[in-house]
Amino acid sequence: MSTPVTQEAIENELREIQGLLDGRRRLRFSAGLEAGFRNTVKARTLEILNHGWWTILLFYLAVAVATYAEVRMLSYPLFLEGNLKVWWVVVLTEGLAITSLILLPRIPLLLAHFWLSISLIATMAIAAITIATSAFPDPYFNQHSSYVVIFIISLIYGIGGMRLVPAAVSAMLAAVLSWAVIWFFDLWLDWGLFAQYVILANVVGMLICYLLEQRERRMFLQARLLELEKGKLDSLSRELSRLSREDVLTGLANRRHFNEVFQLEWDRARREQQTVSLIFVDIDHFKPFNDNHGHLEGDRVLSQVGQALRDTLRRPGDLAARYGGEEFVLLLPGTPATGAMEVAAQVREAVEALRIPHHASTVGPHVTASVGVATLSPELGLRSAQLIAQADEAVYAAKAAGRNCIKVAAQPA
Ligand code: GH3
Ligand code: MG
Ligand code: MG
Repeated sequence: MSTPVTQEAIENELREIQGLLDGRRRLRFSAGLEAGFRNTVKARTLEILNHGWWTILLFYLAVAVATYAEVRMLSYPLFLEGNLKVWWVVVLTEGLAITSLILLPRIPLLLAHFWLSISLIATMAIAAITIATSAFPDPYFNQHSSYVVIFIISLIYGIGGMRLVPAAVSAMLAAVLSWAVIWFFDLWLDWGLFAQYVILANVVGMLICYLLEQRERRMFLQARLLELEKGKLDSLSRELSRLSREDVLTGLANRRHFNEVFQLEWDRARREQQTVSLIFVDIDHFKPFNDNHGHLEGDRVLSQVGQALRDTLRRPGDLAARYGGEEFVLLLPGTPATGAMEVAAQVREAVEALRIPHHASTVGPHVTASVGVATLSPELGLRSAQLIAQADEAVYAAKAAGRNCIKVAAQPA
C-alpha cells in the first residue's frame, strides 16, 4: 500500500488505525484501508499459490492415492462399485478445484476476478468433500470421510485466505451444489448425515475463517502502523538533515554544510589535480543599511541577495552558502581563475541589478557588494584554510579599493 502524501493524511490514517486496534473487532475498514487489506491478503495468497503449488498438488495426490487404496481394500464387496463411483466424482471435482487454484495466478481472466474465482473454487471443493461425507453407500466410509471434512474445509478457507462473508456464501452455494450433484448422479444419500456434516463442518469452518480474518486484520493494521510510523520518522530525519544543512533566512547552504562540501571538494581536487575557486561576497555598508532601513528590511535584502547568488550558479557541483552575517561564499570546484572571474562579475552585477535602495551607502543609491576571488590547485602542503584566507583578503582589497568591485587574490609564490 502506498504511503499517503500529506502529513495530515498520515495523521488521519494513524488515528483511524489506532482506533481500530483499540476498539471493537471489525470485519470491515474504511475504503482505503479495506482496499489495502484485501491487496495484502491477495498478495499473500498468490505467494502461497506461486511458491507452494507443488505442496498442494502433492497433498492432493497423496490423499487421492491413499483413499483409492482404502476404498479398494476396505469396501464390502457389495458396496465396492458404489464406493468407487463416489470416489471418482470426488477426486475429479477436487482435482478440478485444485488445478484451478494452482492455475489462478497464471490465468489473467481468473486473476482479474481474484476473489470471485477463489470463492467459486472453494464452493466446488467444499461441495465435493461434502458429497463424500454423505454419499458413500458403505456406512464405514460414510463415517470415516466425515472426520476429515472439517479439517479439509478449514484448509480450503485458510489457503484461499477467504474472508468470513465470501466463505459463508461459498458454504451455502456448496451445500446446494453438492445436493444437486448427488441428485444428478443418483448417489445414495443419508439426509441426516448430509445435514449434520454440512452444518457442523461449515460452522467450524466459519469460526476458523472468522478467527483467521480477525488475526489477519490485526496483523495488517499493526504492519501498516509500523510502516506509517517509519515513514514519519524517515521524513522527520530528512527534514532534520535538511535543516542542519540550510541557512534559515536565505535557504542557501549554511556554513557548516559549506565546510563539509568544501573539504570534500578540496580532497577530490587534490586527487584529480584540479583547481578549486572560491568567491567571497560581502554586502557594502550593511550596518548603516540596517540602521537606516531597519533590521527586517535588512533580512529581506539578505534573502534577495541569496536568491541572486543561487541564480548565477549553473554547474551542478557549484555551491552557494551564507558564510556569516552579510557574507556569502560560492564554491566552484574544477573551475580555473578565468571562469571564477566571470562568475564573480555576474555576481556583482546581479546584486546591483536588484536595485534595492540604500540611503546610507557611500558607493551609490543601491545595495552593492564587494567580491573577492581566489583559485588554488591543492598541492601537497597546502591546506583548504589557505584558499579561504586568500578569498577573504581579496574581499578586503575590494573594500579598500572603494567597494562594489572585484579583486583577485595574488597567487602564492
Ligand atoms: P562593509 O562595507 O565594510 O562590509 O561594512 P558593513 O557595515 O557591511 O560591515 P560590518 O561587518 O561592519 O557589518 C555587518 C553588519 O551585518 C552588522 C550586522 O548588523 C549585519 N547583519 C549580520 N547578520 C545579519 C542578519 O541576519 N540580518 C540583518 N538584518 N543584519 C545582519
Ligand atoms: Mg562583513
Ligand atoms: Mg559588509
